[in-house]
Amino acid sequence: MHVVIVGGGWAGLAAAVELCQHGARVTVLEAAPQLGGRARGLDSTLNGQRIDNGQHLLLGAYRETLRLLNILGIPEASVFERRPLQLMYKAIDRPDIRITCPSLPAPLHLVTALLNAEGLTLAERLNALSICRGLLRSGFKIDDDISVAAWLSHHKQSPALIRALWEPLCLAVLNTPLHNASVQVFLRVLQDAFTRSRSDSDLLLSRVDLGNTFPEPARRFIEQHGGTVKLSHRAKGLTVQNNAVRNVSVNDYGIAADHVILAIPPNACQRLMEPHTVLHGIAQRLGEISHEPICTVYIQYPPQTRLEMPMIGLLDTTTQWVFDRSLYGQPGLMAAVISGPGPHMAMGKSELSAHVASELARVFPHWSTSEHGPEHSLVIREKYATFACRPGINTLRPGAATPVRGCWLAGDHTDTGYPATLEGAVRSGVECARLIIADG
Ligand SMILES: Cc1cc2nc3c(=O)[nH]c(=O)nc-3n(C[C@H](O)[C@H](O)[C@H](O)COP(=O)(O)OP(=O)(O)OC[C@H]3O[C@@H](n4cnc5c(N)ncnc54)[C@H](O)[C@@H]3O)c2cc1C
Repeated sequence: MHVVIVGGGWAGLAAAVELCQHGARVTVLEAAPQLGGRARGLDSTLNGQRIDNGQHLLLGAYRETLRLLNILGIPEASVFERRPLQLMYKAIDRPDIRITCPSLPAPLHLVTALLNAEGLTLAERLNALSICRGLLRSGFKIDDDISVAAWLSHHKQSPALIRALWEPLCLAVLNTPLHNASVQVFLRVLQDAFTRSRSDSDLLLSRVDLGNTFPEPARRFIEQHGGTVKLSHRAKGLTVQNNAVRNVSVNDYGIAADHVILAIPPNACQRLMEPHTVLHGIAQRLGEISHEPICTVYIQYPPQTRLEMPMIGLLDTTTQWVFDRSLYGQPGLMAAVISGPGPHMAMGKSELSAHVASELARVFPHWSTSEHGPEHSLVIREKYATFACRPGINTLRPGAATPVRGCWLAGDHTDTGYPATLEGAVRSGVECARLIIADG
């Protein structure tokens, strides 16, 4: 059985690893010169240091991702630093907020964390606990997919609590602003992170560049199992005969396939589906999925500059999170993350760097820089970072199977129930591989 996988992001690679493990012959076609897709290490450097296309954070709840690392023989601790959930938010006009999950069984750790949260008033803590109690009772299920903002207002969450807790959490989880965000997908992540085991809410911060966490080990595994990975190979068309896929065309030749997995983003998938009438229904739904950006501003400070913890949230600033890259052996390098849309997307790069640096100077006045600010900075804007996780999004997301025999779909946008995340991508790839193996 020869399976051609179009797309060498985390979904395509997850499918390839699972298939190789079950003895299938795979060929991975990746249009870019490197693997990893939207979660990749970059060739360009900042001040001689390798950086990623964007700061990524994983959760202990990313069980499929961690299972695949295990299959690849990568000890988790060699690529990720695992820490119990501890969130800290700073704002100019209110005390720091700290939410720390104690070492108690789930969901007691969440309840205790909210009850003891520093920097929230008693009324705010009780307000947050009331919604959690309701969720635990209802099993995190909600029939209508309304916006997270509407759901919070229905549950009488105060504006102060929304600003200090829910708004940053929603943006971090769904990369979509509260008033546009799907409550069903939001609750799915909260349920997986907080109700199964305490370790699911742990934060996993990578110690190495993203390419070396999963994509490169996956490539080695695929090649050791007789598979092929072709970089700079863009799939340009599919040959379908008698309603079964036969061939994928790349540049000026074709590759015969028993199965083809399209592990590529919705717009790229649409282009390959367009010539095939039977796939128009899926292509049309994919066309209705819109996207949200993520912007990362890397700023180099003197090497002794440190955050109190690996990441800190900022309230009421353009900058939403700052990550301390000393964990990656890059002391003094900070990654400022801005999720979702906003005026920052229209700013020039040096204007945005200066803006973020001035915000950080206000929040961390003890950080020293020259009078002109930090010397090195780099702005990376990913305009199509994630699908917009709007209410009703799950009705647009396709499953793995298509009406064409042997043609399958994977990718974070498929119907995993998860938002656009590494775990969503990996789950989609594994699911697709399992269906192909079952199909024979
Ligand atoms: C800046 C940023 C920060 C993020 N932060 C987080 C985070 O903290 N935690 C988290 O879990 N997730 C995060 N995400 C989301 C996560 O990176 C994505 O959900 C995930 O990488 C999607 O993987 P995928 O394989 O589904 O798609 P992709 O990564 O888009 O992979 C698709 C691949 O297909 C290739 N391709 C496209 N067309 C063709 C073609 N015709 N032929 C061959 N190849 C083709 C592309 O080059 C690409 O490599 C972030 C994303 C970004 C951009």
